[in-house]
Amino acid sequence: MKAEIISIGTELLMGQIVDTNAAYLAGQLPALGVDLYFISQVGDNLGRLADAFTRALARSDVVLTSGGLGPTEDDVTRESIAAALGETMVVQPELERHLRAFFTRRGTGMPERNVKQATLIPSATAIPNPKGTAPGWWVEKNGRIIAAMPGPPREMTYMWENEVAPRLRKLTGGVTIASRLVKTFGIGEGKVDEMLSPLLKSNNPSIGVYAKPDGIHLRVTAKAATQSEAEALLQPMVEKVLATMGETVWGFDGDTLETSVGALLKAKGLTLATMESCTGGLLASVITDVPGSSDYFKGGVVSYTNEVKAASGVDAKLIAEHGAVSEQVARAMAAAVRTRCGADIGVGVTGVAGPSEMEGKRPGTVFIAIDDGRAARVFPTFWPGERSVIKRRATTSALFHLKKLLEGRA
Ligand code: AMP
Ligand code: MG
Repeated sequence: MKAEIISIGTELLMGQIVDTNAAYLAGQLPALGVDLYFISQVGDNLGRLADAFTRALARSDVVLTSGGLGPTEDDVTRESIAAALGETMVVQPELERHLRAFFTRRGTGMPERNVKQATLIPSATAIPNPKGTAPGWWVEKNGRIIAAMPGPPREMTYMWENEVAPRLRKLTGGVTIASRLVKTFGIGEGKVDEMLSPLLKSNNPSIGVYAKPDGIHLRVTAKAATQSEAEALLQPMVEKVLATMGETVWGFDGDTLETSVGALLKAKGLTLATMESCTGGLLASVITDVPGSSDYFKGGVVSYTNEVKAASGVDAKLIAEHGAVSEQVARAMAAAVRTRCGADIGVGVTGVAGPSEMEGKRPGTVFIAIDDGRAARVFPTFWPGERSVIKRRATTSALFHLKKLLEGRA
């Protein structure tokens, strides 16, 4: 089943609101086995909208819309569907009664212009909307379907979950989807694409490659008549992806690095402390996003200047000799914070967030040191980008190396 989404509203085209409705619906369709081919945004204009519906009905089995169902003159979704189908809107007494009752319950009379929310065309039935005044339209004609939903996200998602998705699920004849998200870190999107290139040609299961702040995510998706067949199809492809991506894989589906690191520390009864320079406390912040992190996180120091590094136990001579952004200083930061906080593991992060060079080192140069009292390891990295991106990547990188180290530690 081929679907397309039309998001309706002039405010979308003015950049005043972001089309979260389309993103939501797009995320919902794979689980129904519905293929999404187009998303368009169209302003509140009868002619252009009617054209959009005519084009959509010529190429898609299902057209999902949001917006333009309000009572005001500029809300013309119903009028446009009627025009595209050559049908006439007629007020439905039952819907009108329902609408008037809604306003009575609110203690106000119904403004007369709201009556158009009680109309239908012969090919449409009303989709109930307990969250607002405007019912949706479910239109079936010539084997095509239009589901017109309200614009406010709360109303739209409610109508989708309770009315539209269940109807589509019946129509798709039970095609189900199994999908697994594989999360990697450490190599760029182009390289991942190259490594997976033979596998990317497959279309069931298929693989999608997405660049995210915590690395490259790979979504493996399989379609089949039943869930178990879809799972059976999915599993061998996931194995191939894991074999190809090797050590870069750090998690699946809803996993986050901070949660995995936290769980490992807890399981091993170990504690952690951080000393950060270029990340400005972001690492400690992300670690403490996890509920219960006080069980294993002792604390952190943001030693942004050399004076604070020295006051926090880093030998000033090392800074003078190698520079604050150096393997030696990262190592000293990890060791100092580990000792001072009485933690089992210390992490030191020092680097250049940019935009200018520092000590002749380019923005994106970062040294991450992890000291677990047995050995200290330093991971030099270079990820160019904007300040916020460098800080975010350095944080992710520290957590990634910490996770690998904890997994390898008895
Ligand atoms: P409408 O039903 O077109 O009158 O839209 C009512 C309100 O819903 C708009 O003012 C927006 O705040 C919100 N809205 C409409 N369309 C979208 C959309 N595609 N994504 C997110 N919000 C939307
Ligand atoms: Mg609108």
